[in-house]
Amino acid sequence: MDAKDIEADLIRVHCTEEQIQTRLGELAVEVWDHYEGKDLLLVGVLKGAVMVMADLMRHLPGSAPMDWMAVSSYGSGTKSSGVVRILKDLDADITGKHVLIVEDIIDSGLTLSWIRANLSSRNPASVEILTLLRKPDAAKVEIDTRWVGFDIPNEFVVGYGLDYDEGYRNLRDVATLAPHVYS
Ligand code: 5GP
Ligand code: MG
Ligand code: MG
Repeated sequence: MDAKDIEADLIRVHCTEEQIQTRLGELAVEVWDHYEGKDLLLVGVLKGAVMVMADLMRHLPGSAPMDWMAVSSYGSGTKSSGVVRILKDLDADITGKHVLIVEDIIDSGLTLSWIRANLSSRNPASVEILTLLRKPDAAKVEIDTRWVGFDIPNEFVVGYGLDYDEGYRNLRDVATLAPHVYS
């Protein structure tokens, strides 16, 4: 897909590259203060959170280790079902660690509430969530999310790691995908 075609598939931008960087800079400072002196582990959820993890990490005033999980939430197209399967588990044991789950987006919340429960059962010292985006109007379960970058409307968005059919992840802004692309 070349850049011109991509442009035509987008309806409106919700967060620009610059807004994302500014917000992640703010969140990174809050995160760092919160975990001062603690054994922090950043856990990213593949693949959407790749960009958030990379930029959040570089905004942190110090260094913290990362690990990754990949899950598939059964369901096709643009909806998640809440039935989750682990495709790739963490590399290491998280017993006693302060886990911060780093996510791209909370939509229904079903996937993340499953992940949180799963990680919490492994005896970490704590589990918190940071998400770049959240769709308050789409929530099906309540999730206690400590850090949220931006609340956005209930629309299917792409860019900054978020895909549709593995495309559009490389966009630097987050924008709504035109429904003609998937309907
Ligand atoms: P949830 O379980 O909260 O409904 O969503 C789980 C996953 O679905 C998210 O982590 C994300 O990968 C994907 N997802 C949810 N909403 C969107 C969206 O608007 N755009 C894209 N590209 N993916 C989404
Ligand atoms: Mg995700
Ligand atoms: Mg996806």
